[in-house]
Amino acid sequence: MFLETSLSGAASLSAAASLSAAALAIAAFPFGLIIGSFLNVVILRFPEQLKNSWRRESEDFLGLAPESDDAQETLSLSKPASRCPGCGVPIKPWHNIPVISYILLRGKCTACSTPISIQYPLVELLSGVATAFIVYQFGLSLTAGYCLIFTWVLIALTGIDFREQLLPDQITLPLLWLGLFANLSGTFVPLNEAVIGALAGYLSLWSVFWLFKLITGKEGMGYGDFKLLAALGAWMGWQMLPLIIILSTFVGALVGIVGLLMKTREKQVPMAFGPFLAMAGWIALIWGDKILGSYLSVFGL
Ligand SMILES: [Zn+2]
Repeated sequence: MFLETSLSGAASLSAAASLSAAALAIAAFPFGLIIGSFLNVVILRFPEQLKNSWRRESEDFLGLAPESDDAQETLSLSKPASRCPGCGVPIKPWHNIPVISYILLRGKCTACSTPISIQYPLVELLSGVATAFIVYQFGLSLTAGYCLIFTWVLIALTGIDFREQLLPDQITLPLLWLGLFANLSGTFVPLNEAVIGALAGYLSLWSVFWLFKLITGKEGMGYGDFKLLAALGAWMGWQMLPLIIILSTFVGALVGIVGLLMKTREKQVPMAFGPFLAMAGWIALIWGDKILGSYLSVFGL
């Protein structure tokens, strides 16, 4: 009798806990959408800012007269305000509501009917769903905070690499430092595993790169990929690196083959590897322990 009541008490307690977790997740979803809308700006503008500064540095180094383009000088994440790339009409605040505006505008500019890139609602939705999921999974905790930053940075890197074939050091390196910092107190893994993870992440792809280059004379991937894998190793330790590499290579190969079959990409055009690394890294941070656990239990370990 006593056991029964305490059991049903525990059941109602856990039901209440999952209800409040669901409520938190629902509250977090619109917040994730707004972050996604900011990530869209980062994805579009940050590479342009980088290119402008590289151009200025090159002109400076070569002693060339700088191109007098005032627009380049003033580009930042907040200025100028967003405009339609087709007709230059400023985008009104009520046309900037994540996902909803895209649906209401039917994916077109109101003034000139230039199609709005599907990237905008996709990135917003991805950010919204991932944010809600993490809050549901980890509640309002420090771990959840770290996971959210990790997720948002990976979404930005994915978008930038997809568009520009570029993983900026200005984003991958701080991600690496933040992973080491989080593991100073062992948030995800003990610090020694995180340090070895960063080291092994970088060196493993670095060796593959040089082996590939020595054999074929071609460059199969970029240095940004090494730094991203180093960052992932810093967050979740060296034990997760094989899983990340297997997952990303498998999905990357699958997408590449489907692309070739559908003739949507030329054989010679290199494919950005960063998005696959980022996706595999995210899966490994959230479910890596479960995946490795069930894999090892197959062998009775
Ligand atoms: Zn327009």
